[in-house]
Amino acid sequence: MATSHYRGRFAPSPTGPLHFGSLVTALASWLEARSAKGDWLVRIEDLDPLREPPEATGQILNSLECHELIPDEPIRFQSRRHSAYRQAISTLLEKRKAYRCQCSRKQLKEHHGRHPNRCRQGLPQVSNDLHAIRFALDSESSLWPDLLLGPQRQTVHAELDDPVILRKEGFFAYQLAVVVDDIDQGITHVVRGSDLLEMTAQQQQIFRALGAEPPQWLHIPVILNEQGQKLSKQTHAPALDDTQPAQNLTAALKALGQNPDHSLAHASPQDVLAWGLANWQRRTIPLTSAQAHGITGVTL
Ligand code: GLU
Repeated sequence: MATSHYRGRFAPSPTGPLHFGSLVTALASWLEARSAKGDWLVRIEDLDPLREPPEATGQILNSLECHELIPDEPIRFQSRRHSAYRQAISTLLEKRKAYRCQCSRKQLKEHHGRHPNRCRQGLPQVSNDLHAIRFALDSESSLWPDLLLGPQRQTVHAELDDPVILRKEGFFAYQLAVVVDDIDQGITHVVRGSDLLEMTAQQQQIFRALGAEPPQWLHIPVILNEQGQKLSKQTHAPALDDTQPAQNLTAALKALGQNPDHSLAHASPQDVLAWGLANWQRRTIPLTSAQAHGITGVTL
């Protein structure tokens, strides 16, 4: 049987500089792609200018470069892909796999997730421009294999779980853009944080509605701070110190359950990556979220 050439990606949303948790994700996706002799791409998911400080994209790309995580193709920016998303939405509307929705969050809550405006049946006439577009899910209990976590069963409910794909404010939503670009870039394997695990069954339906087979998935545990919260902009995760890439990469390998020697922290980032690739063992990645040692997780 012909197997397709592995294509993986790291797809950060530029809400702030790269932190230790995002380095762990970037490194895991790089190691998986490189050990399969595949391509590794970087895509900046800059869909929401209100949440993205203008300097964040440059900081992320600079950090990746300092850590020698160099993509095989030019960086893709979702902010330059609006026409593709618009096209995908027209396709979904035509296929009746998407609908315009004017229900407010409050209304949906009051109706336990049902849409009081019956928008799923097609709004009679959208009276003003203030509507979102939602994907129309089929109720489904899907079973799919995660390459780390094993078989996953996820149930999605039509109407109640229908995700927004175009926000009322006019921004394209992550759930749509991530799928459109994974299809367009021929991504065969998605490696990402397990905080996105619950999005997967919905995304699989969006893949199929757009006429594509979903990729394979591998969800790695998220890195927690000392308070047990996911490292993120919201939890004030500190930016990586780009002046000590080998130390950061060695700590990231440890967070991925690998067993690098302490001395690697004083080698070059290329040496740490080469060691990581030569010794990569997917099956020793921890299955549950781990607390980082020290605030950045880079204390060895
Ligand atoms: N942009 C998403 C994030 O930063 C990740 C998308 C994905 O890997 O599917 O959380």
